[in-house]
Amino acid sequence: MIPEFMEASKYLKVTALAGGVGGAKLLVGLDKVLQPGHLSAVVNTGDDFSHFGLHISPDLDSVCYALAGLADSVHGWGRKDESWQVLEEIRRFGAPDWFALGDRDLAWHLERQRLLSEGKTLTEVTAHFCEVFGIQSRVLPMCDEPAPTLIKTKEGEWLAFQDYFVRLKCQPEIADIALLGNREIAASDLVIEAMLEADLIVLAPSNPWVSIDPILALRGVRNSLQGKPVVAVSPIIQGSALKGPAAKMFADLGIHPSSEAVRQHYEELLDGFIFDDLDLPDAENWQSSAIINQSFQTIMKNDEDKIALAEAVISLGARILQGR
Ligand code: GDP
Ligand code: CA
Repeated sequence: MIPEFMEASKYLKVTALAGGVGGAKLLVGLDKVLQPGHLSAVVNTGDDFSHFGLHISPDLDSVCYALAGLADSVHGWGRKDESWQVLEEIRRFGAPDWFALGDRDLAWHLERQRLLSEGKTLTEVTAHFCEVFGIQSRVLPMCDEPAPTLIKTKEGEWLAFQDYFVRLKCQPEIADIALLGNREIAASDLVIEAMLEADLIVLAPSNPWVSIDPILALRGVRNSLQGKPVVAVSPIIQGSALKGPAAKMFADLGIHPSSEAVRQHYEELLDGFIFDDLDLPDAENWQSSAIINQSFQTIMKNDEDKIALAEAVISLGARILQGR
């Protein structure tokens, strides 16, 4: 436990905005530290698409599997103790195999699709998963309608996000990003409720461009953040992402990737910013602002790291609340 962690802080109500794998790690820490039911996770659905007629929601599944203790920590996605018989058979047919669903993962996808086809919302279906697996935190898809993130390449081609991310392995250089399918979409009512009820808002160490920005772009979200303390954790460490294209996206869009670039990306929203100890030398040169900057060991390799970082985030939030 970090020394300055105050016992009372765990009674705070926290709403955290998150994408997939990076965000899920901090959510696991927050889920363990806070009182049961005091964490709401608002999860990006900009990566969602349809495959074999099934609704695929990569970030939602990463978060749910992580909170349920079912995540595959070796692959970094999907379920642990997975088998791949269905995928092997799919390959035999020469059918598309660029998006891999394991057998256990597939069972949930089938059931989710059945419930969605009956008219249940993604929010309702996610709550059902949480109930079955005993997840006490609230997991909320950012909205219930399709809100796809689109990637424009330097060649001028618009790509669906998973085409860019999985099929093309993030290789094309990005010229532009369109959020929410270029439409105006409102956050779900439960998302707005979770924001308004929260004592503290956390921006998880997720990709700022394609995991957090889609949530912030939804109608109602920025308004409901007004007056709330907001703390972000940097997903960029020493100029790189631990996984995925976050750093490359900054560079493609003409911004030098760094913790400072993340801080500036969120600047007008933030009250507190946690960046990695490894970036401490850089922080001496940051321009002063009203944001409280704090360094910490932010690389989460195990549950102890996740809990320690969650405690640091909550402590900083509590400190900001006290100072008001
Ligand atoms: P995705 O949707 O699965 O790509 O995941 P996210 O958007 O939630 O997270 C991707 C970001 O998480 C990347 O920029 C990584 O650098 C960051 N990330 C992954 N693991 C960690 C970690 O342990 N600590 C920190 N600070 N960032 C992490
Ligand atoms: Ca994602």
